[in-house]
Amino acid sequence: MIDYQNILHTIFKSIGSETDRGTVARYIPELANIDVHKFGIQLVDNEKRSFSDGDSDEVFSIQSISKVLSLAMALSLVGEDLWKRVDVEPSGDPFNHLSLLEKENGIPRNPLINAGAIVIADILVSQLENPKQDFLKFIRNIANDQSIDFDPKVAKSEKETGFRNFAAANLLKSYGNLRNDVDFVLDFYFHQCSIQMSCAQLAKTFFLFSNRGKCIRNQAYLDINRVKRINALMLTCGFYDEAGEFAFEVGLPGKSGVGGGIVALLPNKFCVATWSPGLNKKGNSKLGMQALEKLTSYTSQSIF
Ligand code: GLN
Repeated sequence: MIDYQNILHTIFKSIGSETDRGTVARYIPELANIDVHKFGIQLVDNEKRSFSDGDSDEVFSIQSISKVLSLAMALSLVGEDLWKRVDVEPSGDPFNHLSLLEKENGIPRNPLINAGAIVIADILVSQLENPKQDFLKFIRNIANDQSIDFDPKVAKSEKETGFRNFAAANLLKSYGNLRNDVDFVLDFYFHQCSIQMSCAQLAKTFFLFSNRGKCIRNQAYLDINRVKRINALMLTCGFYDEAGEFAFEVGLPGKSGVGGGIVALLPNKFCVATWSPGLNKKGNSKLGMQALEKLTSYTSQSIF
């Protein structure tokens, strides 16, 4: 049996001595004050055993990691019709780029770039009675943790500076691919991105995607074929224009956020979450990627 605890500790020690830790996201002012030296890692295997090291219980802004959960909820509400409004191809562009959206007549390349996630947010606000509370409840139930919450200061901070997301939503609206009011949809989107979770909570939540759609309490949330689709999207689109690099280095489906979090999973084996707030030039956690490369190399485990 693999000694995950020992491996996580070895990774934690080697990450601790790194001096180049990347740069904390500053375009959302509220995220600029996070300590770049934080590092946490948590792994939950499919026997539901947990292993961790570092700041694995400290909450941070999950940002784009939330896009996987909003996609899962939207898919379970509207089914395959969703794919009429969002494509499933990697964009090869940074998360907030808009040029392809214009070229491709308002159909975002995939649901994990901002424009795609804004269409998913539009679907959710159409479907849900109390969108923000219902989405939170969905995540709390999957995680079996009622303490998970939004960070209203981060949501407000992003609203004040989210000019590109306003541009994306307006462009979508001009192509008829946004049914609700721009401000209403973005208020939901900024809140979903502001959700705070720890590595421990993230690993428990994303356990679902490594456990054939069943959550940590063994309740079925997603059909196995939808899990397949979501994991495929994480692999091909979860790291924007660095998805190839992540597949090459780590070899797992995963998703990053500009809060410095990454979740990744090996189907039927484990789910892992890392947090290191410093980002590389592509907006993905620099040391989180390194830690996961070490994990799959030390254990000789990946989807390949
Ligand atoms: N809320 C962020 C944004 O829209 C999410 C980006 C990310 O985490 N990559 O810019």
